[in-house]
Amino acid sequence: MERSAEQTPEAEVGGGLSRGQIVRERLGDLSDVAADLELAVDEPMARHTTLRLGGPADLWARPRSLGALQALLARAHAAALPVTFVGSGTNLLVRDGGLRGIVINLGHLSDVARPDPEGAPGRVEVEAGASTGKLLKAAIAWELGGLEFLGGVPGSVGGGLVMNAGTYLGEFTDVVTEVRSLRRDGTLVRRDHDGCGFRYRASDLPPSEIVIGATLELTPRPRADVEADVAGLRARRREREPTGVANSGSTFKNPPGDYAGRLIEAAGLKGTRIAGAFVSPKHANWLVVERRSTTAATDLLALVDLVRAKVEEVHGVRLELELKVIGD
Ligand SMILES: Cc1cc2nc3c(=O)[nH]c(=O)nc-3n(C[C@H](O)[C@H](O)[C@H](O)COP(=O)(O)OP(=O)(O)OC[C@H]3O[C@@H](n4cnc5c(N)ncnc54)[C@H](O)[C@@H]3O)c2cc1C
Repeated sequence: MERSAEQTPEAEVGGGLSRGQIVRERLGDLSDVAADLELAVDEPMARHTTLRLGGPADLWARPRSLGALQALLARAHAAALPVTFVGSGTNLLVRDGGLRGIVINLGHLSDVARPDPEGAPGRVEVEAGASTGKLLKAAIAWELGGLEFLGGVPGSVGGGLVMNAGTYLGEFTDVVTEVRSLRRDGTLVRRDHDGCGFRYRASDLPPSEIVIGATLELTPRPRADVEADVAGLRARRREREPTGVANSGSTFKNPPGDYAGRLIEAAGLKGTRIAGAFVSPKHANWLVVERRSTTAATDLLALVDLVRAKVEEVHGVRLELELKVIGD
């Protein structure tokens, strides 16, 4: 299934064709996998990020089968086209120029299974496109503990593994036994827990590979106990986190022994604004964007730079971004 986003004159780059149409042509014949491949040319990334910012992806692709994903990767590789992997876009700032080449999203590959409830009751297999909410819901239904930390953490499992997403209740590293990914040429790579290099909001999973799934080891736990922890975490989040604004959660990582939010607030930056982007008065580590404002990614990036410079001037600490910034 292919569709074309509304064309802007700027998107036309040669022979009347848009960037997306040129990329689509370079990929060649895809009829053998067409039924299993959703494609959109010149797709605005603002539709696929929770910050609601970002220019177009030349070609936005959502495979419905592993075979279609492998075929797409192999053809992109053969045509020397750049490839970017995007999950639910909850930790992404795409620059206003957009993303060149192919942007792959695994939202259609989202199975969560418990293959051996008798022999290995805690083992869960999950595809990377599953949302963290779907995974947590399944664990609760199976009366398995270990994923309580996901209460209120949005995103896909693939993004969560790459980011080692988590909260004070835990993080992905605590439950992962294997991660599976595909290289650009479509070959499968399996990594055990130690091979993933998980650390605070980061991993060594290479950006050149697309994570397709993982094996988790969870622990049998009464449903009521799991639900109570998740509800407690959600309630705490509701109290502290801004609502009604476009955001990506925490913008900066906490520096060792301190909190980015505390440093930003102490530097007097709460409420500081550039266009519709501002430092949330509720939680200073959330750089948020007013909905329906005409804010650009460059405005948010300018705010990031301003906050960083001021925090460094006041506290002598250089904040590191948790937010991933990609694109032209
Ligand atoms: C309201 C809100 C609250 C949040 N709270 C938390 C929190 O409490 N704790 C926390 O850790 N984070 C939090 N976040 C940030 C975010 O939810 C996590 O970082 C999440 O794991 C990102 O997942 P994603 O699918 O959205 O990834 P994306 O934002 O789409 O991508 C993040 C990175 O992962 C890569 N990636 C994504 N999928 C794949 C794949 N299949 N293969 C290879 N690379 C891939 C991307 O290229 C990118 O580098 C919050 C965000 C929001 C909006």
